[in-house]
Amino acid sequence: MMPKKQRGQLIVLSGPSGVGKSTVIAELLSERQDIYFSVSFTTRKPRVGEEDGVNYNFVSRETFEGMIDRGEFLEYAKYVDNYYGTSLKVIEEKMEEGIDVLLDIEVQGAAKVKERCPDAVLIFIIPPSFEELSRRLHGRHTDDEAVIEGRLKKAREEYNQIPNYDFLVVNDKVSVAAGEIRAILVAEGCRTKNRMNLVEGV
Ligand code: ADP
Ligand code: 5GP
Repeated sequence: MMPKKQRGQLIVLSGPSGVGKSTVIAELLSERQDIYFSVSFTTRKPRVGEEDGVNYNFVSRETFEGMIDRGEFLEYAKYVDNYYGTSLKVIEEKMEEGIDVLLDIEVQGAAKVKERCPDAVLIFIIPPSFEELSRRLHGRHTDDEAVIEGRLKKAREEYNQIPNYDFLVVNDKVSVAAGEIRAILVAEGCRTKNRMNLVEGV
């Protein structure tokens, strides 16, 4: 058996709201149970079907601000009137154990992660078109028109950050997008620096 990795890979996935990040992640995790999905903290209200501790840890603004003050976040950001943040403790533990950790975070948070963890791999997911993005946001039936408009506007701003990402994936078909992400992760795992523990005699 191959020895376990010395340290887990940090994987950052970003893309406009409604592009299908949660859907693609669910497909990816159904085949790769060895990846740990980091459950973020947010002050946003749960959507229908979302579960506390599964999709997010849903907390009050006071709780979130207390966590900021105590330095408990690897990164956090404000996104369309709500806070979102990644707890440092759990992901540190997982990576120490050699487990890969996946973050679904927006562009400001991704930039902070890259700064603090330069080895993180950054993947941006886009829809085939803005028209399709709008269709998906409407089709999800979770947000009202004003929220959807805000998210579409935000998407155009987020696109300016695409050059800072290592990889770009188009979510046209979920299985293809998930397959591309799998391929990226396989290639990352094969980097020389991630495999030196397999080399004898050095
Ligand atoms: P995000 O997590 O990026 O906000 P979701 O995963 O919630 O997006 O997906 C938004 C909507 O688009 C959902 O209704 C989902 O079923 C749908 N969707 C996701 N991927 C695709 C795809 N490749 N083709 C068509 N619809 C999709
Ligand atoms: P949503 O409200 O649609 O679930 O998420 C809105 C945005 O917040 C998405 O772009 C999502 O990637 C991002 N997001 C979710 N969790 C975090 C987090 O912990 N940190 C940051 N910076 N963004 C997050």
